[in-house]
Amino acid sequence: MSETFEHYALNAMAGVIGAEHVRRDAETCRYFSSDLFFDAEFPAMAVVSPATREEAAHVIRIATDESVSIVPRGGGLSYSGGYVTQDSRSIILDTTRLTRILEINEEDQYVTVEAGVTWQVLDDEVAKHGLRVPHFGPASGRVSTVGGGLSQNTVLFGSATHGSIADHVLSLEVALPDGSRVKTGSGAIRDGQPFFRYHGPDVGGLFLGDCGALGVKLSATLQLMPRPTAFVYASFAFPTFEAMITGQTEVGRSRLAADILGTGTYIPPYRDESDAKPVMHIVVEGDTDIEVAHRFDRLRAIAAYQGVETDPTVPQVLRAHPFGFVSSLLDDDGRLQSWTHGLVPFSRGLHMLSCLTATLNAAAELIERSGIEITISAAVVRNALLIEPIIRWRDHPRPIQLNGLGNPATPWQGTADAAATDAAVQLRRSLRNLFRRESAAHLQIGKYYGFREGLIDDSDGLLMRLKHALDPHDRMNPGALGLG
Ligand SMILES: Cc1cc2nc3c(=O)[nH]c(=O)nc-3n(C[C@H](O)[C@H](O)[C@H](O)COP(=O)(O)OP(=O)(O)OC[C@H]3O[C@@H](n4cnc5c(N)ncnc54)[C@H](O)[C@@H]3O)c2cc1C
Repeated sequence: MSETFEHYALNAMAGVIGAEHVRRDAETCRYFSSDLFFDAEFPAMAVVSPATREEAAHVIRIATDESVSIVPRGGGLSYSGGYVTQDSRSIILDTTRLTRILEINEEDQYVTVEAGVTWQVLDDEVAKHGLRVPHFGPASGRVSTVGGGLSQNTVLFGSATHGSIADHVLSLEVALPDGSRVKTGSGAIRDGQPFFRYHGPDVGGLFLGDCGALGVKLSATLQLMPRPTAFVYASFAFPTFEAMITGQTEVGRSRLAADILGTGTYIPPYRDESDAKPVMHIVVEGDTDIEVAHRFDRLRAIAAYQGVETDPTVPQVLRAHPFGFVSSLLDDDGRLQSWTHGLVPFSRGLHMLSCLTATLNAAAELIERSGIEITISAAVVRNALLIEPIIRWRDHPRPIQLNGLGNPATPWQGTADAAATDAAVQLRRSLRNLFRRESAAHLQIGKYYGFREGLIDDSDGLLMRLKHALDPHDRMNPGALGLG
C-alpha cells in the first residue's frame, strides 16, 4: 500500500469525524487489533471512532471505495479472533462512541440503543422503568457492547428461561459495506415502529452471530419485560461432574429457573482431590415471594436427587453485581485465562462431558508440566447446555489484560512462561477440534471455531452467496466466520 493511498483514505475519514478520532500510532493500532487471546500479525492502519451512525456509515463507504477492510470492534472483550485484523490495509471501526439510548418504549415494551452502549448502561437505564431485557447481557457487560453481543451472541443471566440475546432482537439498523443503512423487521416499514421481528423474511437474523462479517450494527431494538422482583438463590454440590450435568439438565427441562450455572475444578488423573465437588448455582425469579418459593420447592425436589444444598453466595453475588466480574481480565491469582465452548442439546450433555474428560485426561502430562489449571463450567440455555472449559496459566499478560478497562491498571509481578502459553494454545486447539468433531454449536465464532468446515455443503454455499451479494469485494471483517 502506498503512503499516498493510505493518507488519502484516512484523511478523508478524518475530514468526516475529526482527525483526533482517526488514531494512527502503532501502539494504539496494535492494541485495538489484538484480542484477549490472539495477537494481530498485521495490525490495522488506524482506529477510527465515529460519534454518530451517519458518521459510521460514511466512514464505511470511504473505506470500501478506497479498498480498505473494515473490522468492527465494540468493547474488545472477545477471544476468538473476531476483530483481530488479517491485513494492515484495514481500519478498526471502534463503536464505543455510539452510545445513545434512542428510545425506551414502556407501552410497547422495547428499547432501541446504539451499538456501542454497554449492557450495564442498558440495564441501568431500563431498570429505572421497572423493565429488563429478558437475558440482560454477559458478565463482561461493564465494558462489552450491545453491538458486540449481537454479533457474537451472548448467554448467561436469564438464559435458562429466556435463551440467548439473539432471541430478544426485534429490529436492527446495519451499515452495509457500500455505506447504505438497512433496517430490519417492522423497523423497515416506512413510518413503522421496530416492535416486531418477523415482518417477512427474518433479514435481521442474518446479522446476528455474524461476527461483523456481513455488516456493522449501528443500533438495535430489544424486547423488554417487567423486571422480576422476587428471587430465590440456591447452590447444590454434586459428587461428580456427571451428576451435576444430569442435575442441570433435569432442572433445565423443568423451566423453573432463570439461571442454571455449573462449575467445578477438573482434577487430572494423577491428582487425588476427591473433596473438590462441582456445584450448580441457580436463580429462580418471579413477581412474588410465594410464586418463587413454590417454584423453588419443585426445583429442589429435582436437584436434591443427587445434589446437596450448599451456601448460595455465588448466585447471590452474581446477581447483585452481574457486571462486576470484569474488574480484571486476569483471574484472582493473576493468571491468564481462556474460554473454549460448545453448545449441545440436553440429550448429548453427558456424552460431551465424557469426551471432554477424555481429551483433558489425554493431555494430563502437558497440563501438569505447564502448571495449567482447568475449570469446567456448564450453563443451561433453554434446551441446550453450553459446556465451557476454562484454561488458566501463568505468563506475561498482554496490554489489554493489564489495562484495567476503567479500573486502575492491574499490577503484574509474575514470571513470564512462554512454554505455558504454548501449552494453553495447544490445549485450546484440541478442545476446539473436539467440539467440532462432536458437532457442537457455537457463540463467538470469530475467526477461530472452523464454522464453515462444519457446515453441510449446500448451507455453506448459500452463506457464501449471501456474503458475496452483500460484500462483493470482501471488505467487511475478512476472515470472520471463515468467510473471505
Ligand atoms: C471476563 C469475561 C466475561 C465474559 N462473560 C461472558 C458471558 O457471560 N456470556 C457471554 O456470552 N460471553 C461472555 N464473554 C465473552 C464476550 O465478552 C462477549 O461475547 C461480549 O458480547 C463481547 O462484546 P464486545 O463488545 O466486547 O465485542 P468485541 O470483542 O469488540 O467484538 C466481538 C465480535 O463482534 C464484532 N462486532 C463488534 N461490534 C460490532 C458491531 N457493532 N457490528 C458488527 N460487528 C461487531 C467484532 O468484529 C467481533 O467479531 C466474557 C468475556 C470476558 C473476558
